[in-house]
Amino acid sequence: MNNGTTRRDFLKVLGVAGAGAAATSCGPPDVGDKLIPYLVPPEDVVPGTNVSYATVLSSAGPEPLALHATARDGRVIKLEGHPDFPNEGRLSALAQSALQDLYDPDRIAGPRRREGDGFVDAAWDEGLQAVASALTPGRTLLLTGPMTGGPAEFVRSWADAMGAEWIAWEPLGVEALRTAHEIAFGTREIPSFEIDRADRIVSFGADFLGTWLAPVELAGRFSRARDVEAGRHAKFTHVGPRLSLTGLNADEWLAARPGTEGLVALAVAREVAERRGGGAAERVRGALAPFTTDAVAERAGVSADRIRSLAGEIAGAHAPIALPPDVSGQGQAATEAHLAVALLNFVSGAIGTTVRFGSGPVRGETASFAEMRALADRMRAGAFDTVLVAGTNPVYAMPKAVGFGEAYAAVRTRVSLGTHLDETAAASTWILPSSHELESWGDAEIRPGLRAIGQPVLRPLFDTRQREDILLGLSAAAGRGAFDAEDFRSWLEARWREAAPEGVPFASFRHDLLASGKLGGASADGEPAPALTAAGANYRFTLPPALQGFGLVAYPSAQLFDGRGANRSWLQELPDPVTKAVWSSWVELHPETAEPLGLETGDLVEVRSGAGSVTAPAYVYEGIRPDAIAIPLGQGHTEYGRHARGRGVNALDLLDATVDGRSGALAFAGVTVEITAVGRKGRLPIMQGNDTDLGREIAETMQVDDALAAIGGHHVDLREIVEAAWDSDPNSPYRWGMTIDTNACTGCGACVVACFAENNIPTVGEDLCAQGRDMSWMQIMRYYEKTEDGGFVTVHTPVLCQHCGDAPCEPVCPVYAAYHNPEGLNAQVYNRCVGTRYCANNCPYKVRRFNWFTYEWPYPLNLQLNPDVTVRQTGVMEKCTFCVQRIQKAKMDAKAEGRLVEDGEIQTACMQSCPTQAIVFGNLKDPESRVSRIAKGARAYHMLDELNTRPAITYLAGVTHAKPVDAGHGHGGGHGTEHDAGEDAGAAH
Ligand code: SF4
Repeated sequence: MNNGTTRRDFLKVLGVAGAGAAATSCGPPDVGDKLIPYLVPPEDVVPGTNVSYATVLSSAGPEPLALHATARDGRVIKLEGHPDFPNEGRLSALAQSALQDLYDPDRIAGPRRREGDGFVDAAWDEGLQAVASALTPGRTLLLTGPMTGGPAEFVRSWADAMGAEWIAWEPLGVEALRTAHEIAFGTREIPSFEIDRADRIVSFGADFLGTWLAPVELAGRFSRARDVEAGRHAKFTHVGPRLSLTGLNADEWLAARPGTEGLVALAVAREVAERRGGGAAERVRGALAPFTTDAVAERAGVSADRIRSLAGEIAGAHAPIALPPDVSGQGQAATEAHLAVALLNFVSGAIGTTVRFGSGPVRGETASFAEMRALADRMRAGAFDTVLVAGTNPVYAMPKAVGFGEAYAAVRTRVSLGTHLDETAAASTWILPSSHELESWGDAEIRPGLRAIGQPVLRPLFDTRQREDILLGLSAAAGRGAFDAEDFRSWLEARWREAAPEGVPFASFRHDLLASGKLGGASADGEPAPALTAAGANYRFTLPPALQGFGLVAYPSAQLFDGRGANRSWLQELPDPVTKAVWSSWVELHPETAEPLGLETGDLVEVRSGAGSVTAPAYVYEGIRPDAIAIPLGQGHTEYGRHARGRGVNALDLLDATVDGRSGALAFAGVTVEITAVGRKGRLPIMQGNDTDLGREIAETMQVDDALAAIGGHHVDLREIVEAAWDSDPNSPYRWGMTIDTNACTGCGACVVACFAENNIPTVGEDLCAQGRDMSWMQIMRYYEKTEDGGFVTVHTPVLCQHCGDAPCEPVCPVYAAYHNPEGLNAQVYNRCVGTRYCANNCPYKVRRFNWFTYEWPYPLNLQLNPDVTVRQTGVMEKCTFCVQRIQKAKMDAKAEGRLVEDGEIQTACMQSCPTQAIVFGNLKDPESRVSRIAKGARAYHMLDELNTRPAITYLAGVTHAKPVDAGHGHGGGHGTEHDAGEDAGAAH
């Protein structure tokens, strides 16, 4: 590996990092203060074995996520969800990629001082003194991301003691949701949306499986609501102008005009109230009366009959649930849209049953967009001498129309406590870099009464300090030390000490706390349903202004979220679940819109609004209304790092600073735009060759009634299972296999990123992706299937090596590099491979990846590499191994204990991460194993079964309430937006 790191440097990091990890758990805390090679190993670290530390990521995405960080010899190499929290042991792609954020070579390596147009290195003392001398009480601002738990208490106390103003801000905040609930129920609390209890689900624009509120938790709940083997499959309707990741998982789409989701909710609520009657309906009759179905249908551009039929199904459901819009549907009437959905939940009886208060997600209160806009005005007017910014990037994440960057530049002392040289840090006068969250102490309130404990899982890689310790250093240097703690860790532990049961020594309590990562417990039942207020019941709704021209849908990216993931190559190279594009921005438009402009996918299109313009490649998509265009947020950085800078466009540039009058939330929706064909091609690498399976039965679908009937009458013959396991050595007790449930898979891509992390898979960059030379071992194929009503449904089909019993790749290898092992694995011997690529040519699933180059992991990214997995070099073929290193570990453990590997003992990385538990791995020779039983289910099929390759992977057909054409055989026409990324794409995918 050529990355400029010497063996000596590497060993130094290992020594420090290893000692640091020990200091985080139960070992003596001062061990981390010295460089000690592993001749003297820390107490709880056995060289060469993994150690797991519980910690939390509180700002990695829309939800704080408790997790276990796996460390090897002081380097953290893998993140996995903590099973005792609402994420149930699962992580999103964004959270998985926090490792790349930690090891990012573009992190700021030490304090810096502005000099001219650039920065020069500085010493910590110099920086602390300089900034402390500028901390004028009453004229200092501390701007952070959202915070809860101990860190929030600390920052509040620090700001009070320093006479500073503290503002927490989340660019994709939930202020409209909170304000609506305050009006309706007198509480700003976020309820728990318990989708798993529901038998009818409708989302008014919430991308709850991708980016809204708590997607890991909600995806798990969604899959339980549609567990067809348990005899239930809640029908799901998506209302909105565009099919997002969540929309693609719906059974039905009501394609409402941008910004009219709330309006449709009002009409549905009115119809439901009429059907259900009773006291609840009576209370809201006046508020809903103006929203007749026909009037709303015309305004929203959807069929009145479909609104009535949706309302009829909700009224007749036992436990319906409605979810409010995310920011992409948040216009000038955002609070009203949320209130409309709250009233629908009220009249349908969902409040208190599927929407429960008292046990919902905890998020710290954050400033609204309007308050941030006012803050920019105050900065411009000279209200602050000093602004400190930590954990947020407002210069990038505020629309240009606000001029936040110029306002920030007007402040004399601007201090970034960030980890990266992002747009805000680059505009600062001082950079006092914080350590990464995985290098820091903390905790986060996940549910009322339930905290996840954060502890550093390795020593800081650079000359950085914990954010709170920087604040302590500043107050000490300013002579206003308001804390009697030496450092934040002691301060935090003093708070934890208050929770220690009487009689239990704190050392022992602390040990257990750090081991479990959990403080307190959440109430399972929450509180009684709140009463609807008079203000909510009698609210006078106004109609959103009608859009002229094309409506813009600016939506959070399923990979990059608001842009915080943009410098991570795992996320840039993770195909978007809708477009399958990588490393890019794009403009989604309907074929009817594209056709008169002569636009095809990949052609450049200019989009103009009153606030600005952007130019990006078109993506022609039937999942968007003809009068709407959509652009993802997250790209268009001018700073931040090598992967983010200068890539794509920022959809925020098209937004003016319009707000929702009630909550002050930014109006993402309601902007009209004009579009013009530029007249030349852009570059849009798309990693899927065809949008349909071309009738080859790769993706299969069953209508829900057929699926329920088939499952009800299905009998599992255990003899059959044993026979099916013959593709391994008869003397071996194992034949490893997997099931993948395409009914559960949402296409989120968490498994793909988990596989990158576990298996040292390189990212190849935009140029090679455009040639179809990506290296990912998993592809989530997104296939459309036509339905009888002329629409389409989507099946997400994860495709990886099928570990065939009769594998076409094996006999064609001239050097036996591809061979069948006694446990049925289709193994690949890297050091035998001579790179003829015959195997890839002969693989019908196209899951083999060839190393055209030796890829690099520049320091410190190389520290993330899994030592149990070979790093492959030029000329070597590779593909999924079923995480053979995990299989070997389990086998060795079992052998040491004189037993066989037990069912559930091995979780492949993809299975472990999947929020919907779509993937199950195990031993097919054990008829009682979970995988054996699932593989013999009524929905089971093998991909390209007619080739008789006898795959070890069994797919379970998708289930839909729509009526697919030729259901059960997966023949789909889909919509024809086929586009090959490059010359190799068709063959490679
Ligand atoms: S299988 Fe992969 S893409 Fe599908 S839901 Fe699970 S993690 Fe997401």
